[in-house]
Amino acid sequence: MSKSKSPETVKVVVRCRPMNEKEQANKFERVVSVDVKLGQIVVRNHREASASESPKVFTFDSVYDWNSKQIDLYDETFRPLVDSVLLGFNGTIFAYGQTGTGKTYTMEGVRNDPEKRGVIPNSFEHIFTHISRSQNQQYLVRASYLEIYQEEVKDLLSKNQAHRLELRERPDTGVYVKDLSSFVTKSVREIEHVMNVGNQNRSVGSTNMNEHSSRSHAIFVITVECSELGVDGENHIRVGKLNLVDLAGSERQAKTGAQGERLKEATKINLSLSALGNVISALVDGRSSHIPYRDSKLTRLLQDSLGGNACTVMVANIGPASYNMEETLTTLRYSNRAKNIKNKPRINEDPKDALLREFQEEIARLKGQLQKRSGGKKKSKQRRRAGEGSDGEDLEGETEEDDDEDGDDKGDYWGEQQEKLERERKAIMEDHSLVAEEKVRLLKKKEKKMEDLRREREAGEMLTAKVKAMESKLLVGGKNIVDHTNEQQKMLQQRRHEIAEQKHREREMQQQMESRDEETLELKETYTSLQQEVDIKTKKLKKLFAKLQAVKAEIHDIQEAHIRERQELEQTQNELTRDLKLKHLIIENFIPQEERSKIVSRAYIDEEDEHWKMQPITRLEDDQRMRTRPLSAVGYRRPLCHHARVAMMMKPDTRYKAENIQILDMDLPTRTTIDYQEPVIAPTVAAALRDALRDEDEIQVDALGFYSSLGPTPPASAISSLKKPKSGRPRTGKMSSTPTSPFSPSSPGPPLYPQCRGLVPK
Ligand code: ADP
Ligand code: MG
Repeated sequence: MSKSKSPETVKVVVRCRPMNEKEQANKFERVVSVDVKLGQIVVRNHREASASESPKVFTFDSVYDWNSKQIDLYDETFRPLVDSVLLGFNGTIFAYGQTGTGKTYTMEGVRNDPEKRGVIPNSFEHIFTHISRSQNQQYLVRASYLEIYQEEVKDLLSKNQAHRLELRERPDTGVYVKDLSSFVTKSVREIEHVMNVGNQNRSVGSTNMNEHSSRSHAIFVITVECSELGVDGENHIRVGKLNLVDLAGSERQAKTGAQGERLKEATKINLSLSALGNVISALVDGRSSHIPYRDSKLTRLLQDSLGGNACTVMVANIGPASYNMEETLTTLRYSNRAKNIKNKPRINEDPKDALLREFQEEIARLKGQLQKRSGGKKKSKQRRRAGEGSDGEDLEGETEEDDDEDGDDKGDYWGEQQEKLERERKAIMEDHSLVAEEKVRLLKKKEKKMEDLRREREAGEMLTAKVKAMESKLLVGGKNIVDHTNEQQKMLQQRRHEIAEQKHREREMQQQMESRDEETLELKETYTSLQQEVDIKTKKLKKLFAKLQAVKAEIHDIQEAHIRERQELEQTQNELTRDLKLKHLIIENFIPQEERSKIVSRAYIDEEDEHWKMQPITRLEDDQRMRTRPLSAVGYRRPLCHHARVAMMMKPDTRYKAENIQILDMDLPTRTTIDYQEPVIAPTVAAALRDALRDEDEIQVDALGFYSSLGPTPPASAISSLKKPKSGRPRTGKMSSTPTSPFSPSSPGPPLYPQCRGLVPK
């Protein structure tokens, strides 16, 4: 069920900023004059040639000159809108205009100056003051902050600033940003913090803040959910959403000479803004049935604010100086058209995605859990008192409901339990009749019980804390959220509101008077003479003629603007065509025909994103899905093709060996020996050897004496070997003089032959 307001038009107000220091120093002429009472902006043409042209007059709902105060703007124009958001309507505030004309000043203002705070901080104060004064209502306020830059949506409150978000659409709630983070805020301070965090992220990545902000749209979203008991005895939830939009600078981006990325950037920058203009035109036109909301992210996201379910205020910001005249006129014309958009706001009651309902249900669930827990304890406590289960067992596991739970002695209960267990533990320790083993076992049991008790207690405490935290997020009136909630302030605000209303009515009346002036004049007039009639009619004719001229001039201006715009579009088109031709050239010459047609058949357009995407590769011949690669061939760790498998076995090279491809030699130990070398025989040794090899007959050895000294009889082999006749050996006369054996142990002198030194060379 939703209550509707009568259709209302988009409210358009114009604000002209003061001359800045540079403009004053350069003595620029002021070409804009503002009639606050009549709600009119008059722009004079400063050029000599066109000085005779009549000034251009635009009428709006309200206009604000350079002396306007932020708070006046808020009270007169924005407060009623925020009030309707608090009632459950959607509301949107746009700031439109050339860079440097005060869009950000109007929306955010000067942070540390309470007098110069813009709409966003003022609305914080307004919302939380309203909540603190409310009665029998529960509120939940949350905030999100996003930015659209080059048709990409960025969440300014997310940790990952590189992430881009997507727009999605649901039939029940409309267009929304998928995965946009939102923070539940409990006070002005908290929501201000959210805004500051977002603002810091907004400037990341750009050296010049105004440069970046002039090319991006920032949207601060406050969602206010309010739950109230209806006449039917049921709780009803109303959800109001407030979009606070600081648009990109409306001036034309220079596109000339841009190529590639820069051209893309230039064409994308104002896409959202020109789409916004087209949407406004289509809405006002009344003839076109198709409204091009889908042409840009901004218009899709704010679809409801333009011709849909929302109350909308557009602030057109202009500069007063002569050099800005062209842009000022464009802005005024643009916003003049927006005046005629009709919206159909209605209260959003009981929507499916209300977070407040989720919170209420979660709190109820947690409370139920808590009650169950304490119910269980109570039960066991009662049982314990009755003398059953005095061991204190079954602390858990009791899940029966116990309605007469009294929260006060919950703390006592925990204490009691702990004390009891401690006492029992001590008793066991002091009980000497128990065997040591038994003691340890019992002690362990008790300790476990104590641990369980502690855990149980912690879980209970956590649950209570969670309930408290969740409840604290739901705001109720009567509490002092904002300090100055006294009656006087309330009265003051009421008065301000009345004054604003009064002013508004006065302005409307004056505007009406002005338009009816001529008609009434005509009706009242009676002509006394023909001459008088001629005079008066001539005068009127002159007036009408002047009007006609003004309208003609306006038409001429608009036509000129159109031609300029068309020329620019043509230029962009030319550049894009040139770009396209280059791509075509590359494709024609460097991508084989076969591949091209494969790619073309795979490409499709995603209606949701308006992007070309590629379908996954399929087998074109039979249109089956491509067979999935085998995860692993049997026996191998990786998938292998047949060729690779054969090559792996046949060829020694490592090309196809997916693993163990390094071939190493055997690791040999270091050498610890040297090669055998024949000994060099000394001459004496050679002589000895020669002697030794002499014919047996020539040697006179007293072998008997040798053997008798060793033992009783020489071994037969020894004697035979000594007696063995050998012939053909050279004889030497030297040894004949040595009758005794060199081996004779009994010989006292030095040995006849040199001692053997082994094989190591000298
Ligand atoms: P935009 O966001 O449109 O690019 P800014 O809000 O940054 O422009 O304004 C540019 C400058 O003009 C700022 O220094 C701002 O303080 C000043 N300014 C804009 N509007 C007003 C105003 N109404 N009164 C005083 N100063 C203003
Ligand atoms: Mg700005």
